[in-house]
Amino acid sequence: MPRDHLKGVKSHYDVIVVGSGLAGMTAANILARAGRSVLVLEQHYRLGGMATWFRRPRGNVFDISLHGFPAGMIKSCRRYWNDDIASRIRQIKAIHFDNPQFSFYSSYDKGDFLDKLVNHFGVERQTVDEFFAAIERMQFYDRDVATTRELFMEFFPDRPDVWRLLIEPIAYANGSSLDDPAITFGIVFSNFMKKGVFIYEGGSDDLEKRMKIEMERNGVDVRIKALVERIIVEGNEARGVMVNGRMIESRIVISNAGLKNTILRLVGELHLPAAYVNETRKVRLNNSSCQVYIGLKAGKSIPFLGDLFFTSTCPEFDSDRLCAMHVTSRTYSLYYPNIRPGTDRYTIVSSTNANYEDWVGLTDDAYAVEKRRLVETTLDALEGYVPGVRNRLDWVEASTPLTFEHYTMQMEASSFGTKFEGLKVSMDLPNHVSGLFHAGSVGLIMSGWLGTINYGVIVANKAESHLARQGAHCEQH
Ligand SMILES: Cc1cc2nc3c(=O)[nH]c(=O)nc-3n(C[C@H](O)[C@H](O)[C@H](O)COP(=O)(O)OP(=O)(O)OC[C@H]3O[C@@H](n4cnc5c(N)ncnc54)[C@H](O)[C@@H]3O)c2cc1C
Repeated sequence: MPRDHLKGVKSHYDVIVVGSGLAGMTAANILARAGRSVLVLEQHYRLGGMATWFRRPRGNVFDISLHGFPAGMIKSCRRYWNDDIASRIRQIKAIHFDNPQFSFYSSYDKGDFLDKLVNHFGVERQTVDEFFAAIERMQFYDRDVATTRELFMEFFPDRPDVWRLLIEPIAYANGSSLDDPAITFGIVFSNFMKKGVFIYEGGSDDLEKRMKIEMERNGVDVRIKALVERIIVEGNEARGVMVNGRMIESRIVISNAGLKNTILRLVGELHLPAAYVNETRKVRLNNSSCQVYIGLKAGKSIPFLGDLFFTSTCPEFDSDRLCAMHVTSRTYSLYYPNIRPGTDRYTIVSSTNANYEDWVGLTDDAYAVEKRRLVETTLDALEGYVPGVRNRLDWVEASTPLTFEHYTMQMEASSFGTKFEGLKVSMDLPNHVSGLFHAGSVGLIMSGWLGTINYGVIVANKAESHLARQGAHCEQH
Protein backbone atom coordinates (compact mmCIF):
# COMPACT_ATOMS: atom_id res chain seq x y z
CA MET A 1 0.00 0.00 0.00
CA PRO A 2 1.32 3.51 -0.76
CA ARG A 3 2.31 5.46 2.35
CA ASP A 4 -0.34 7.83 3.72
CA HIS A 5 1.44 11.15 4.08
CA LEU A 6 -1.55 12.57 5.92
CA LYS A 7 -1.68 9.86 8.57
CA GLY A 8 -2.77 11.30 11.91
CA VAL A 9 -3.70 14.66 10.45
CA LYS A 10 -6.62 16.40 12.20
CA SER A 11 -9.86 17.18 10.42
CA HIS A 12 -9.71 20.88 11.39
CA TYR A 13 -6.99 23.51 11.96
CA ASP A 14 -7.14 27.24 12.62
CA VAL A 15 -4.81 27.80 9.67
CA ILE A 16 -3.76 25.72 6.67
CA VAL A 17 -0.66 26.85 4.76
CA VAL A 18 -0.40 25.56 1.20
CA GLY A 19 3.30 25.26 0.31
CA SER A 20 6.48 25.43 2.35
CA GLY A 21 8.41 28.20 0.60
CA LEU A 22 10.05 30.79 2.86
CA ALA A 23 6.85 32.87 3.00
CA GLY A 24 4.65 29.89 3.83
CA MET A 25 6.93 28.52 6.53
CA THR A 26 7.43 31.95 8.12
CA ALA A 27 3.69 32.63 8.26
CA ALA A 28 3.09 29.15 9.72
CA ASN A 29 5.77 29.61 12.37
CA ILE A 30 4.43 32.99 13.52
CA LEU A 31 0.83 31.81 13.76
CA ALA A 32 1.77 28.63 15.63
CA ARG A 33 3.87 30.68 18.03
CA ALA A 34 0.77 32.81 18.66
CA GLY A 35 -1.04 29.65 19.76
CA ARG A 36 -2.92 28.82 16.54
CA SER A 37 -3.19 25.25 15.27
CA VAL A 38 -1.39 25.23 11.92
CA LEU A 39 -0.99 22.64 9.16
CA VAL A 40 1.64 23.06 6.41
CA LEU A 41 1.01 21.05 3.24
CA GLU A 42 3.94 20.71 0.82
CA GLN A 43 3.62 18.73 -2.40
CA HIS A 44 7.39 18.09 -2.73
CA TYR A 45 9.35 15.63 -0.58
CA ARG A 46 11.45 18.50 0.77
CA LEU A 47 10.60 21.83 2.42
CA GLY A 48 11.81 25.24 1.22
CA GLY A 49 10.38 25.67 -2.28
CA MET A 50 13.01 27.56 -4.30
CA ALA A 51 15.15 27.88 -1.17
CA THR A 52 16.27 24.31 -1.58
CA TRP A 53 19.26 22.04 -2.24
CA PHE A 54 20.23 18.60 -3.45
CA ARG A 55 23.02 16.11 -2.73
CA ARG A 56 24.81 13.94 -5.29
CA PRO A 57 26.31 10.52 -4.63
CA ARG A 58 29.96 11.43 -4.10
CA GLY A 59 29.20 14.12 -1.57
CA ASN A 60 28.57 17.37 -3.46
CA VAL A 61 25.68 19.40 -2.06
CA PHE A 62 24.24 22.10 -4.32
CA ASP A 63 22.26 25.17 -3.23
CA ILE A 64 19.63 26.50 -5.61
CA SER A 65 18.92 30.03 -4.40
CA LEU A 66 21.38 30.66 -1.59
CA HIS A 67 23.51 33.28 -3.32
CA GLY A 68 23.02 36.44 -1.34
CA PHE A 69 20.50 38.53 0.56
CA PRO A 70 20.55 41.83 2.50
CA ALA A 71 21.55 42.17 6.16
CA GLY A 72 17.87 42.60 7.08
CA MET A 73 17.65 38.79 7.08
CA ILE A 74 19.42 38.71 10.44
CA LYS A 75 16.69 40.79 12.11
CA SER A 76 13.86 38.96 10.35
CA CYS A 77 15.24 35.53 11.24
CA ARG A 78 15.86 36.55 14.86
CA ARG A 79 12.33 37.93 15.28
CA TYR A 80 10.32 35.40 13.33
CA TRP A 81 12.50 32.25 13.61
CA ASN A 82 15.14 32.11 16.34
CA ASP A 83 18.59 33.31 17.48
CA ASP A 84 20.21 30.08 16.37
CA ILE A 85 19.18 30.58 12.73
CA ALA A 86 19.96 34.32 12.79
CA SER A 87 23.43 33.70 14.24
CA ARG A 88 24.46 31.65 11.18
CA ILE A 89 24.07 34.54 8.75
CA ARG A 90 27.42 35.94 7.56
CA GLN A 91 28.51 38.73 5.27
CA ILE A 92 30.14 37.55 2.07
CA LYS A 93 33.61 38.89 1.36
CA ALA A 94 33.53 40.10 -2.21
CA ILE A 95 31.46 40.46 -5.32
CA HIS A 96 33.41 40.24 -8.52
CA PHE A 97 32.39 41.82 -11.85
CA ASP A 98 33.88 41.10 -15.24
CA ASN A 99 32.27 42.46 -18.40
CA PRO A 100 33.31 44.57 -21.42
CA GLN A 101 32.64 47.77 -19.43
CA PHE A 102 34.45 47.07 -16.14
CA SER A 103 36.21 44.47 -14.09
CA PHE A 104 36.76 44.69 -10.32
CA TYR A 105 35.89 43.36 -6.88
CA SER A 106 33.38 45.12 -4.62
CA SER A 107 32.15 44.72 -1.06
CA TYR A 108 28.80 45.96 -2.41
CA ASP A 109 28.15 48.41 0.39
CA LYS A 110 27.67 52.17 0.46
CA GLY A 111 31.32 53.07 1.05
CA ASP A 112 32.52 50.89 -1.79
CA PHE A 113 29.81 52.13 -4.18
CA LEU A 114 30.81 55.70 -3.42
CA ASP A 115 34.44 54.84 -4.08
CA LYS A 116 33.67 52.99 -7.33
CA LEU A 117 31.29 55.63 -8.69
CA VAL A 118 33.59 58.54 -7.92
CA ASN A 119 37.07 57.07 -8.40
CA HIS A 120 36.50 54.34 -10.98
CA PHE A 121 33.64 55.79 -13.03
CA GLY A 122 34.48 59.47 -12.45
CA VAL A 123 30.98 60.55 -11.37
CA GLU A 124 30.73 63.81 -9.36
CA ARG A 125 30.53 63.16 -5.61
CA GLN A 126 27.47 65.41 -5.30
CA THR A 127 25.59 63.41 -7.95
CA VAL A 128 26.33 60.17 -6.12
CA ASP A 129 25.17 61.63 -2.79
CA GLU A 130 21.96 62.89 -4.40
CA PHE A 131 21.33 59.50 -6.02
CA PHE A 132 21.84 57.66 -2.71
CA ALA A 133 19.53 60.15 -0.95
CA ALA A 134 16.86 59.63 -3.65
CA ILE A 135 16.83 55.86 -3.33
CA GLU A 136 17.01 55.95 0.46
CA ARG A 137 13.85 58.09 0.45
CA MET A 138 11.92 55.48 -1.55
CA GLN A 139 9.06 53.89 0.36
CA PHE A 140 7.00 50.80 -0.23
CA TYR A 141 3.80 52.88 -0.50
CA ASP A 142 5.27 55.47 -2.91
CA ARG A 143 2.92 56.41 -5.69
CA ASP A 144 5.77 57.60 -7.94
CA VAL A 145 5.50 55.71 -11.21
CA ALA A 146 8.92 56.62 -12.61
CA THR A 147 10.84 53.68 -14.04
CA THR A 148 14.36 52.64 -13.17
CA ARG A 149 15.42 53.83 -16.64
CA GLU A 150 14.03 57.31 -15.85
CA LEU A 151 15.78 57.30 -12.47
CA PHE A 152 19.11 56.46 -14.11
CA MET A 153 18.52 59.04 -16.88
CA GLU A 154 18.07 61.68 -14.21
CA PHE A 155 21.31 60.94 -12.35
CA PHE A 156 23.59 59.19 -14.85
CA PRO A 157 22.57 60.14 -18.41
CA ASP A 158 24.79 58.57 -21.08
CA ARG A 159 26.51 56.30 -18.56
CA PRO A 160 25.58 52.73 -19.57
CA ASP A 161 28.56 51.46 -17.58
CA VAL A 162 27.12 52.94 -14.36
CA TRP A 163 23.64 51.65 -15.21
CA ARG A 164 25.09 48.17 -15.56
CA LEU A 165 26.84 48.29 -12.18
CA LEU A 166 23.60 49.37 -10.52
CA ILE A 167 21.02 47.16 -12.24
CA GLU A 168 22.72 43.91 -13.27
CA PRO A 169 22.99 42.36 -9.78
CA ILE A 170 19.42 43.48 -8.97
CA ALA A 171 18.15 41.91 -12.21
CA TYR A 172 19.55 38.65 -10.82
CA ALA A 173 18.29 39.36 -7.31
CA ASN A 174 14.62 40.04 -8.14
CA GLY A 175 14.18 39.87 -11.90
CA SER A 176 13.64 43.62 -12.34
CA SER A 177 14.49 45.45 -15.55
CA LEU A 178 15.04 49.09 -16.51
CA ASP A 179 11.35 49.42 -17.35
CA ASP A 180 9.98 48.32 -13.98
CA PRO A 181 8.98 50.95 -11.38
CA ALA A 182 12.07 52.58 -9.87
CA ILE A 183 11.05 51.54 -6.34
CA THR A 184 11.49 47.86 -7.30
CA PHE A 185 15.13 48.63 -7.97
CA GLY A 186 15.63 51.33 -5.33
CA ILE A 187 14.24 49.50 -2.30
CA VAL A 188 16.11 46.27 -3.05
CA PHE A 189 19.35 48.07 -3.99
CA SER A 190 19.34 50.23 -0.87
CA ASN A 191 18.62 47.13 1.27
CA PHE A 192 21.80 45.55 -0.09
CA MET A 193 23.81 48.75 -0.06
CA LYS A 194 23.20 49.43 3.65
CA LYS A 195 25.58 46.73 4.80
CA GLY A 196 26.54 44.51 1.86
CA VAL A 197 25.51 40.98 0.90
CA PHE A 198 24.91 38.11 3.32
CA ILE A 199 24.62 34.34 3.15
CA TYR A 200 23.54 31.50 5.46
CA GLU A 201 26.49 29.50 6.75
CA GLY A 202 25.61 25.82 6.81
CA GLY A 203 23.78 25.86 3.46
CA SER A 204 20.12 25.52 2.54
CA ASP A 205 20.03 21.94 3.90
CA ASP A 206 20.97 23.17 7.36
CA LEU A 207 18.44 26.01 7.18
CA GLU A 208 15.65 23.66 6.10
CA LYS A 209 16.44 21.34 9.01
CA ARG A 210 16.46 24.15 11.58
CA MET A 211 13.27 25.75 10.26
CA LYS A 212 11.46 22.41 10.42
CA ILE A 213 12.63 21.85 14.01
CA GLU A 214 11.47 25.34 15.00
CA MET A 215 8.07 24.95 13.34
CA GLU A 216 7.49 21.59 15.03
CA ARG A 217 8.65 22.96 18.38
CA ASN A 218 5.92 25.60 18.01
CA GLY A 219 3.38 22.91 17.18
CA VAL A 220 3.09 23.23 13.37
CA ASP A 221 1.92 19.99 11.75
CA VAL A 222 4.24 19.73 8.70
CA ARG A 223 3.37 17.32 5.88
CA ILE A 224 5.36 16.64 2.72
CA LYS A 225 4.10 14.88 -0.43
CA ALA A 226 0.77 16.56 0.27
CA LEU A 227 -0.59 18.05 -2.93
CA VAL A 228 -3.39 20.56 -2.44
CA GLU A 229 -5.79 20.07 -5.32
CA ARG A 230 -8.28 22.76 -4.39
CA ILE A 231 -8.93 25.53 -1.90
CA ILE A 232 -12.51 25.14 -0.74
CA VAL A 233 -14.59 28.30 -0.86
CA GLU A 234 -18.23 28.47 0.22
CA GLY A 235 -20.15 31.68 -0.30
CA ASN A 236 -17.23 34.06 -0.11
CA GLU A 237 -15.40 32.30 2.73
CA ALA A 238 -12.43 29.94 2.81
CA ARG A 239 -13.40 26.62 4.39
CA GLY A 240 -10.28 24.47 3.95
CA VAL A 241 -8.54 22.45 1.28
CA MET A 242 -8.71 19.21 -0.67
CA VAL A 243 -5.32 17.53 -0.27
CA ASN A 244 -4.34 14.09 -1.58
CA GLY A 245 -8.06 13.49 -2.14
CA ARG A 246 -9.07 14.37 1.43
CA MET A 247 -10.85 17.43 2.83
CA ILE A 248 -9.33 19.28 5.77
CA GLU A 249 -11.14 22.27 7.24
CA SER A 250 -9.81 25.61 8.41
CA ARG A 251 -11.05 29.15 8.88
CA ILE A 252 -7.87 30.54 7.34
CA VAL A 253 -6.02 29.32 4.26
CA ILE A 254 -2.68 30.93 3.41
CA SER A 255 -1.57 29.93 -0.06
CA ASN A 256 2.15 29.99 -0.83
CA ALA A 257 1.47 28.21 -4.12
CA GLY A 258 2.05 31.21 -6.43
CA LEU A 259 -0.34 34.12 -6.89
CA LYS A 260 -1.92 33.27 -10.26
CA ASN A 261 -1.88 29.56 -9.49
CA THR A 262 -3.76 30.19 -6.24
CA ILE A 263 -6.42 32.41 -7.76
CA LEU A 264 -6.93 30.87 -11.19
CA ARG A 265 -6.36 27.17 -10.42
CA LEU A 266 -6.72 26.37 -6.72
CA VAL A 267 -9.69 28.68 -6.05
CA GLY A 268 -11.09 28.99 -9.57
CA GLU A 269 -12.75 31.93 -11.24
CA LEU A 270 -16.30 30.83 -10.38
CA HIS A 271 -15.72 31.91 -6.80
CA LEU A 272 -14.39 35.35 -7.67
CA PRO A 273 -15.68 38.56 -9.26
CA ALA A 274 -14.95 38.71 -13.00
CA ALA A 275 -13.11 42.03 -12.68
CA TYR A 276 -10.71 40.56 -10.11
CA VAL A 277 -10.12 37.48 -12.26
CA ASN A 278 -9.32 39.76 -15.22
CA GLU A 279 -6.96 41.82 -13.12
CA THR A 280 -5.24 38.59 -12.02
CA ARG A 281 -4.88 37.37 -15.61
CA LYS A 282 -3.13 40.61 -16.52
CA VAL A 283 -0.47 40.21 -13.82
CA ARG A 284 2.88 39.57 -15.51
CA LEU A 285 5.15 36.89 -14.14
CA ASN A 286 8.86 37.37 -13.71
CA ASN A 287 11.49 35.53 -15.68
CA SER A 288 12.70 32.06 -14.80
CA SER A 289 16.25 30.70 -14.46
CA CYS A 290 18.72 28.13 -15.70
CA GLN A 291 21.54 26.84 -13.56
CA VAL A 292 24.61 24.67 -14.01
CA TYR A 293 25.77 22.84 -10.88
CA ILE A 294 29.49 22.14 -10.85
CA GLY A 295 30.99 20.01 -8.07
CA LEU A 296 34.73 19.55 -7.57
CA LYS A 297 36.32 16.24 -6.62
CA ALA A 298 37.28 15.78 -2.97
CA GLY A 299 40.71 17.36 -2.41
CA LYS A 300 40.43 19.67 -5.46
CA SER A 301 40.06 23.42 -5.11
CA ILE A 302 39.75 26.70 -6.99
CA PRO A 303 41.36 30.07 -6.19
CA PHE A 304 39.27 32.84 -4.59
CA LEU A 305 37.31 34.58 -7.34
CA GLY A 306 34.84 36.36 -5.07
CA ASP A 307 31.77 34.80 -3.53
CA LEU A 308 29.51 36.02 -6.30
CA PHE A 309 30.98 36.58 -9.72
CA PHE A 310 28.90 38.53 -12.28
CA THR A 311 30.27 37.90 -15.75
CA SER A 312 29.05 38.98 -19.15
CA THR A 313 30.27 39.23 -22.70
CA CYS A 314 27.36 41.48 -23.69
CA PRO A 315 28.59 45.01 -24.56
CA GLU A 316 25.99 46.68 -22.31
CA PHE A 317 23.28 45.66 -19.83
CA ASP A 318 20.36 44.30 -21.83
CA SER A 319 17.34 42.67 -20.09
CA ASP A 320 16.37 40.65 -23.17
CA ARG A 321 19.82 39.22 -23.73
CA LEU A 322 20.13 38.51 -20.01
CA CYS A 323 17.31 35.98 -20.38
CA ALA A 324 18.17 34.71 -23.89
CA MET A 325 18.76 31.01 -24.45
CA HIS A 326 22.18 31.61 -25.92
CA VAL A 327 23.76 32.93 -22.82
CA THR A 328 26.00 35.99 -22.66
CA SER A 329 25.77 36.67 -18.90
CA ARG A 330 26.35 34.26 -16.06
CA THR A 331 26.55 34.72 -12.32
CA TYR A 332 28.76 32.20 -10.58
CA SER A 333 28.11 31.52 -6.92
CA LEU A 334 31.34 30.15 -5.59
CA TYR A 335 30.96 27.97 -2.52
CA TYR A 336 34.23 27.48 -0.68
CA PRO A 337 34.40 24.89 2.11
CA ASN A 338 33.54 27.49 4.78
CA ILE A 339 29.93 27.59 3.56
CA ARG A 340 29.50 24.16 5.16
CA PRO A 341 31.96 24.14 8.07
CA GLY A 342 33.51 20.71 8.54
CA THR A 343 33.56 19.82 4.84
CA ASP A 344 36.37 20.36 2.33
CA ARG A 345 34.25 20.54 -0.81
CA TYR A 346 34.10 23.32 -3.40
CA THR A 347 31.02 23.78 -5.57
CA ILE A 348 30.08 26.36 -8.18
CA VAL A 349 26.56 27.21 -9.28
CA SER A 350 26.24 29.20 -12.49
CA SER A 351 22.90 31.03 -12.76
CA THR A 352 21.37 32.77 -15.74
CA ASN A 353 17.98 34.40 -16.09
CA ALA A 354 15.80 32.57 -18.62
CA ASN A 355 12.47 32.72 -20.43
CA TYR A 356 10.07 29.87 -19.71
CA GLU A 357 8.63 30.04 -23.24
CA ASP A 358 12.05 29.42 -24.82
CA TRP A 359 12.29 26.04 -23.09
CA VAL A 360 8.72 24.77 -22.86
CA GLY A 361 8.06 24.26 -26.57
CA LEU A 362 11.15 22.17 -27.34
CA THR A 363 11.00 18.55 -28.47
CA ASP A 364 12.73 16.08 -26.13
CA ASP A 365 15.73 15.92 -28.46
CA ALA A 366 16.04 19.68 -28.82
CA TYR A 367 15.68 20.07 -25.04
CA ALA A 368 18.52 17.61 -24.44
CA VAL A 369 20.70 19.43 -27.01
CA GLU A 370 20.06 22.84 -25.43
CA LYS A 371 20.71 21.53 -21.94
CA ARG A 372 24.01 20.00 -23.09
CA ARG A 373 24.93 23.27 -24.77
CA LEU A 374 24.17 25.15 -21.55
CA VAL A 375 26.55 22.88 -19.63
CA GLU A 376 29.36 22.95 -22.21
CA THR A 377 29.29 26.70 -22.84
CA THR A 378 29.26 27.32 -19.09
CA LEU A 379 32.30 25.07 -18.56
CA ASP A 380 34.07 26.78 -21.49
CA ALA A 381 33.38 30.17 -19.95
CA LEU A 382 34.54 29.00 -16.52
CA GLU A 383 37.78 27.63 -18.04
CA GLY A 384 38.56 31.24 -18.99
CA TYR A 385 38.72 32.12 -15.29
CA VAL A 386 39.92 28.80 -13.84
CA PRO A 387 42.10 27.10 -16.46
CA GLY A 388 41.98 23.31 -16.19
CA VAL A 389 38.83 23.31 -14.04
CA ARG A 390 37.29 20.57 -16.22
CA ASN A 391 39.88 18.10 -14.93
CA ARG A 392 38.92 18.78 -11.32
CA LEU A 393 35.22 18.07 -11.68
CA ASP A 394 33.26 15.35 -10.01
CA TRP A 395 29.72 16.31 -10.99
CA VAL A 396 28.04 18.59 -13.52
CA GLU A 397 24.35 18.92 -14.31
CA ALA A 398 21.93 21.62 -15.33
CA SER A 399 18.43 22.81 -14.51
CA THR A 400 16.11 24.78 -16.76
CA PRO A 401 12.76 26.52 -16.23
CA LEU A 402 11.13 23.11 -16.69
CA THR A 403 13.10 21.76 -13.74
CA PHE A 404 11.94 24.62 -11.52
CA GLU A 405 8.36 24.18 -12.67
CA HIS A 406 8.51 20.45 -11.92
CA TYR A 407 9.76 20.84 -8.36
CA THR A 408 7.90 23.96 -7.20
CA MET A 409 4.80 24.02 -9.45
CA GLN A 410 5.35 27.77 -9.92
CA MET A 411 3.47 28.99 -12.99
CA GLU A 412 5.94 29.50 -15.85
CA ALA A 413 8.64 28.62 -13.33
CA SER A 414 8.91 32.24 -12.29
CA SER A 415 11.96 32.62 -10.03
CA PHE A 416 10.74 35.82 -8.37
CA GLY A 417 6.94 35.68 -8.50
CA THR A 418 5.19 38.52 -10.30
CA LYS A 419 5.88 41.99 -11.60
CA PHE A 420 4.84 44.99 -9.51
CA GLU A 421 1.09 44.85 -10.23
CA GLY A 422 0.86 41.43 -8.53
CA LEU A 423 1.24 42.98 -5.09
CA LYS A 424 -2.15 44.70 -5.21
CA VAL A 425 -3.86 41.54 -6.46
CA SER A 426 -2.23 39.53 -3.67
CA MET A 427 -3.28 42.04 -1.01
CA ASP A 428 -6.85 42.21 -2.36
CA LEU A 429 -7.47 38.45 -2.17
CA PRO A 430 -8.97 38.40 1.36
CA ASN A 431 -11.40 41.15 0.28
CA HIS A 432 -12.90 38.70 -2.22
CA VAL A 433 -12.64 35.46 -0.22
CA SER A 434 -12.78 36.03 3.51
CA GLY A 435 -10.04 34.05 5.29
CA LEU A 436 -7.98 33.40 2.16
CA PHE A 437 -4.53 34.96 1.86
CA HIS A 438 -1.64 34.68 -0.57
CA ALA A 439 1.93 34.76 0.78
CA GLY A 440 4.96 34.43 -1.46
CA SER A 441 7.24 36.23 -3.89
CA VAL A 442 5.22 39.01 -5.41
CA GLY A 443 5.57 42.51 -6.84
CA LEU A 444 9.38 42.38 -7.18
CA ILE A 445 9.81 44.06 -3.79
CA MET A 446 8.33 41.20 -1.78
CA SER A 447 10.59 38.62 -3.39
CA GLY A 448 13.94 37.03 -2.77
CA TRP A 449 14.65 35.45 0.59
CA LEU A 450 14.22 38.62 2.67
CA GLY A 451 11.26 40.10 0.79
CA THR A 452 9.45 36.78 0.81
CA ILE A 453 10.00 36.15 4.51
CA ASN A 454 8.86 39.68 5.30
CA TYR A 455 5.73 39.24 3.21
CA GLY A 456 5.03 36.01 5.12
CA VAL A 457 5.17 38.11 8.31
CA ILE A 458 2.75 40.73 6.94
CA VAL A 459 0.29 38.04 5.88
CA ALA A 460 0.57 36.16 9.19
CA ASN A 461 -0.31 39.37 11.02
CA LYS A 462 -3.35 39.92 8.81
CA ALA A 463 -4.44 36.30 9.31
CA GLU A 464 -4.02 36.67 13.08
CA SER A 465 -6.19 39.82 13.08
CA HIS A 466 -8.81 37.96 11.07
CA LEU A 467 -8.82 35.08 13.57
CA ALA A 468 -8.97 37.50 16.50
CA ARG A 469 -11.95 39.30 14.92
CA GLN A 470 -13.70 35.98 14.33
CA GLY A 471 -13.00 34.95 17.94
CA ALA A 472 -14.54 38.18 19.21
CA HIS A 473 -17.49 37.65 16.89
CA CYS A 474 -18.05 34.07 18.21
CA GLU A 475 -17.87 35.25 21.84
CA GLN A 476 -20.56 37.89 21.18
CA HIS A 477 -23.01 35.23 19.91
C1 LIG B 1 17.67 30.10 -9.41
C2 LIG B 1 17.19 31.02 -8.34
C3 LIG B 1 18.09 31.82 -7.68
C4 LIG B 1 17.67 32.68 -6.67
N1 LIG B 1 18.60 33.42 -6.00
C5 LIG B 1 18.22 34.18 -4.96
C6 LIG B 1 19.18 34.88 -4.18
O1 LIG B 1 20.38 34.80 -4.41
N2 LIG B 1 18.75 35.65 -3.15
C7 LIG B 1 17.45 35.75 -2.83
O2 LIG B 1 17.12 36.45 -1.88
N3 LIG B 1 16.50 35.08 -3.55
C8 LIG B 1 16.85 34.30 -4.59
N4 LIG B 1 15.93 33.62 -5.32
C9 LIG B 1 14.49 33.85 -5.03
C10 LIG B 1 14.00 33.15 -3.80
O3 LIG B 1 14.51 31.84 -3.74
C11 LIG B 1 12.48 33.15 -3.84
O4 LIG B 1 12.03 34.49 -3.97
C12 LIG B 1 11.84 32.56 -2.59
O5 LIG B 1 12.52 31.40 -2.14
C13 LIG B 1 10.40 32.23 -2.94
O6 LIG B 1 9.71 31.78 -1.82
P1 LIG B 1 8.13 31.64 -1.85
O7 LIG B 1 7.71 31.52 -0.44
O8 LIG B 1 7.53 32.69 -2.68
O9 LIG B 1 7.76 30.31 -2.60
P2 LIG B 1 8.43 29.09 -3.32
O10 LIG B 1 9.84 28.95 -2.98
O11 LIG B 1 8.05 29.12 -4.75
O12 LIG B 1 7.65 27.88 -2.63
C14 LIG B 1 6.33 27.54 -2.91
C15 LIG B 1 6.08 26.15 -2.35
O13 LIG B 1 4.73 25.78 -2.56
C16 LIG B 1 4.68 24.42 -2.94
N5 LIG B 1 3.43 24.19 -3.67
C17 LIG B 1 3.05 24.76 -4.83
N6 LIG B 1 1.82 24.32 -5.17
C18 LIG B 1 1.42 23.46 -4.20
C19 LIG B 1 0.24 22.69 -3.99
N7 LIG B 1 -0.77 22.74 -4.84
N8 LIG B 1 0.18 21.92 -2.89
C20 LIG B 1 1.20 21.87 -1.99
N9 LIG B 1 2.34 22.58 -2.15
C21 LIG B 1 2.45 23.37 -3.23
C22 LIG B 1 5.91 24.24 -3.80
O14 LIG B 1 6.28 22.89 -3.93
C23 LIG B 1 6.93 25.07 -3.04
O15 LIG B 1 7.61 24.32 -2.07
C24 LIG B 1 16.31 32.75 -6.34
C25 LIG B 1 15.39 31.93 -7.00
C26 LIG B 1 15.82 31.08 -7.99
C27 LIG B 1 14.84 30.19 -8.68
